This record gives sequence, C-alpha cells and structure tokens, in this order.
Amino acid sequence: MMHIEDKRQQKIYEIVSIVRLASLLFSGIIIFAHFFNDGTTIIYSNEKYFSSLSVGLSICIMVLIFGLWSFSSKRNLLMKHFKSAQTIENLVFILIFSILIVISGANTSQYKFLFLFIIITSTIQAGIKQGIILASVSSLIVLSIDLAYAGSESVNKNFENDLILIGVFMLTAWPLGYYVKVENEYREKLSHLANIDGLTQVYNHRYFHDSLKNELKKARSSGYPLSIILMDIDYFKHYNDLYGHQAGDEILKNIAMILKRNVRKEDIVARYGGEEFAVILPNTTEKEAVSIAEVIRRDVEQTKFPGEENQPNGRITASIGISTFPHKAQNEVELIKSADDALYRAKFFNKNRVESYYSILEELKKDIEAEHIDLITSIKTLISVINAKDRYTYGHTERVVMYCRLISDKLGLNDVDKKTLKYGAYLHDIGKINIAKEILIKRMPLTKDEWETLKQHPANGVEIIKNVDSLKKVIPLILHHHERYDGRGYPGGLKGDEIPYLARILTVVDSFDAMTSNRPYNTRKTYDEAVEELKRCSGGQFDPVIAQAFIEVIQENKDKLDII
Ligand code: GH3
Ligand code: MG
Ligand code: MG
Repeated sequence: MMHIEDKRQQKIYEIVSIVRLASLLFSGIIIFAHFFNDGTTIIYSNEKYFSSLSVGLSICIMVLIFGLWSFSSKRNLLMKHFKSAQTIENLVFILIFSILIVISGANTSQYKFLFLFIIITSTIQAGIKQGIILASVSSLIVLSIDLAYAGSESVNKNFENDLILIGVFMLTAWPLGYYVKVENEYREKLSHLANIDGLTQVYNHRYFHDSLKNELKKARSSGYPLSIILMDIDYFKHYNDLYGHQAGDEILKNIAMILKRNVRKEDIVARYGGEEFAVILPNTTEKEAVSIAEVIRRDVEQTKFPGEENQPNGRITASIGISTFPHKAQNEVELIKSADDALYRAKFFNKNRVESYYSILEELKKDIEAEHIDLITSIKTLISVINAKDRYTYGHTERVVMYCRLISDKLGLNDVDKKTLKYGAYLHDIGKINIAKEILIKRMPLTKDEWETLKQHPANGVEIIKNVDSLKKVIPLILHHHERYDGRGYPGGLKGDEIPYLARILTVVDSFDAMTSNRPYNTRKTYDEAVEELKRCSGGQFDPVIAQAFIEVIQENKDKLDII
C-alpha cells in the first residue's frame, strides 16, 4: 500500500514536471521570438545574430537544467521532505513568467495567462491552499504590472481586462484544489478500509508486513532497536466450541481493544491471523517490549470475559512471544520467526506467559572454536528436522533445559557444570536424527528391532559432536542419559556412581518431562502423578538424592509451572 502511494506521488511529479517543462519551453520560444523579431524589418546584422543566438542558447540550457532536475531522483526526495524546495521552484517560475510578461509588452502583454501553468500544476501537487496562494500572487503581479505601466488614459483598459483574468486564476485554483482535496480524502478513507481488519478494527496482516518493512528500514538507518510482539489466545478453539464463533468474535474485539489501550501512540497493532495479534514497537528494546507485553498479558488475564470460567484454565488468557532487531534477528523473516518461536515456548511453558526469543545455539556459538562454528548451523538444521519429525521433541528440549536450570541452582552446581548440563540438555536427543519418523511417533509398543534402533540415539548423538573440543564435556551426558541407577539402562549398563553425575541429573529431568507431556507411546501424567513416579523409581531408575532434589524443585515452582 505504501509503495502504491509512493508510485502515485511519483506519477503526479512526472506529469507536473512535463507540464512545467512545456511551459518553460513555451516561454523560451516567446522570449526568443521577441528578441529575433522586434517588429522592425528584419535586418540580419552580426550583433543581432549573436544576441539571438545567446538568448536561444541560454533558454535551451535553462530548459535542459530544469528537465534534468525534474527527473532526477534527488528532486523527488527533496520535494517530499522539504516543502520549501517546492516554494522556491514556484518562485523561480513566477519570476520567469513575470520577466517574460514585462519584456513582451508589460501591461499590454498577451502572455499573462502563463501563470495558469504554475497555478494548475501547484494545485494538483500541493492542494487548494497552495493553489489559492499562487493564484493570489499571480493576480497581484499582473495588476501591479498594469498599474505600473499604465498610461495617462483615464480608463485603464488592461486593468479591467485583467480583472477577468484574475477571476480565471481563482476559478481554476479553487475548484481544482477542492477536487484534489475530495479525492485525497476518499483515497485516505479507502486505504484505511484496505488496511484495517473489519472485525477488530486494528490493522490487518498486509499492513503489518508493509509497516514492519518500513519500520525496519528506519531502525536500520537510525540504529535504534525494534521489537515485535506476537500474541495468541489460549484455548480459543475450546471457547469457540463451547459458545460459538460469534461469541469468539466478541472476545477478539475485546482483546484488540486491550492491546490498543496498552500500547504507545507510535506502536502498530495488527491482527496477524485468526486469533493471533502482532504489535510493532519502534525504537523499543527487548526489556521495554517485555514490560509492555507483561502489562497486556495481565490486562487480558484480569479482564472479565463472559463464560471464561469454563475454559480449561478458568479464564481467557493469552501467550506472548517477543523478538528484537538487531539483537535477536537481522531481518523481517528472522524477526517474525523468532517471535513465533518465543510464542511457541510460552505455549509450552503452560501458556498465559510472556517469552522473549532465546537461542542456546547463539550462546553456544560464543563458546565454540572458530573451526567448528559451522557445526552450529548443522545442529540448527538437525534440530529443525527432528522437530518436524516429532513435534514433541521441540518443547521437550526447551522444557528440559528449563528444568535443568532450576535443578542446577538447587544442587549448587558450579558455572562450568551448569553450562555443560544446559548444553547436554539441549543436545541430548540430537541422535534421533537417524531414527525414522514412524518409530518416533509410533502409538503401538515398539517391536524389539525398533527398540534397538531407538537405543542407538545416544551413541549417534555423540558421533555428531565428538570432534568439537568445547563440547567434549557434553559427550558423557548424551551417551549416558538413558542409564539407570540400578544398572539396567543403556547403552553401558552403568550402575550408581559409575554413571556421570550430570548424566544422572539429565535422566531424572528428561524422564519427568517425558511423563508429563503427551508422548505418542504413553499417556500424560499430572505433575503429582509424575512426582509419585519419581519417588517410586528412586534408587531403581533414578539417583535417589537427585530425584529428591528435583521433586523439591517441582514443588517449589509448582505455581510457575502451572499444572493443568
Ligand atoms: P492454544 O492455547 O494452543 O493457542 O490453543 P487454541 O485452541 O487457541 O488453538 P489455536 O491457537 O490453533 O487457535 C485456533 C482457533 O482459533 C481455531 C478457531 O476456532 C479460532 N479462530 C481463528 N480465527 C477465528 C475468528 O476469526 N473468529 C473466531 N471466533 N475464532 C477464530
Ligand atoms: Mg493460534
Ligand atoms: Mg490459540
């Protein structure tokens, strides 16, 4: 829409420039004719020949300069940003026409109508006000010339005639300007209609993308950050199913109002999709975006919506993802993708929360040796392939990383171990890349062969990262995260303290998340049931000390993890 408007402006500039160029050429011919043929018999003296030649040449140069200036991109830019450039151009034209009138007979000149060119073009370009001003200035000049050059006759004939001409000036500027004004108003109304979402009255998807491009351009040139918010209503399908789509639409309208009342004037709120909204926050850091998003989230949570008590979490809530240029994303695609990733994470951590984009891979990049930096790109690809195969893995990895962060603090791990555990948590399933999708998502119990294949994934994972020195410490975690404390695990059948400490932590956390999420091959347990299971398997599958510490972590963070 914005470049359509730019194109329109460009076309108007072009047509106006052509008319002005023509008027200039026309003036040139008049001046030239005047110098060449002054009413006396034509005598070709050298002096006259040269003066005509120089006048002709200067006119040609003048027309050429204006021609080049008219169609240079600089002029368009200048005209767009500096109204004074337009005024100066108009003054130059008025000056040229005035001189022309004076030398072609002053009060008796037949060329006073030339002012019409500048009146018409300016009115088209700048509207009614500019048109009337120029018509008035032109009228004043014409009348002044009449008065200044008036003879001694009692009735100033030229003055009387020119009063009619002034009427023509005014009657050209006023209706033409009015037409331009009406047309502009309608255009604005139409473009508003084309940019606004009919249901929620916020901007639509297309306008969001146009604005994001534009705002990113501004952010790039100014060096300021730019954040975006992506918001998705929680369990909205459930609400629609209960109360129907019309009731759902009312919620959407309300949520749009909540968004509008909590953002700043310069922020752009849009409906991104069915029940997803997006906000562009120009000149906003991630921290500022998080606090704005938190205010929005809380407002949605606290607003009373009809029938919300029957939602799975007892109210209407929304999850929000945030990303920031240039800190977290470098372009439009990355910005949306990363905000979407953050939103996905907010959903996974039990919804009704704000998450900003965070990538362990970016953190890993800082630690890894330069020669292995390409591996990060490969890991990124591997993880997205695994995610595509097994949607569960994505949230699983993220949740395991979060649980590891919590238990690291509980067990008082040092910084190196914390980092190793975090990277281990992130990479532990990477060996699943070699496992067929059918096995990963299979609902029936696995056959013996399939189990054997699945049991390969720790060793496969190690193969992928084994050459990277900075990841050496992570190898035992990947290899042994399926060992059991009682020695009945795989692949090594290690027992008790033979299993590396960090791998024992990862086993507890990994298993807990497997129990509490919907996996294809088992039904989901509640957090309390999973805690019971941890207790039951303590000393068997799990290191009892670690299991106990993790149970405490879960109980302490129960409200944060929010069991649904
Ligand atoms: P989640 O908490 O994971 O977001 O679950 P959800 O049920 O909200 O799922 P999702 O975000 O995929 O929401 C899709 C639903 O949104 C499907 C449809 O019922 C509803 N929806 C999408 N567009 C509209 C709309 O224009 N009006 C109404 N009333 N409902 C819509
Ligand atoms: Mg959705
Ligand atoms: Mg939703």
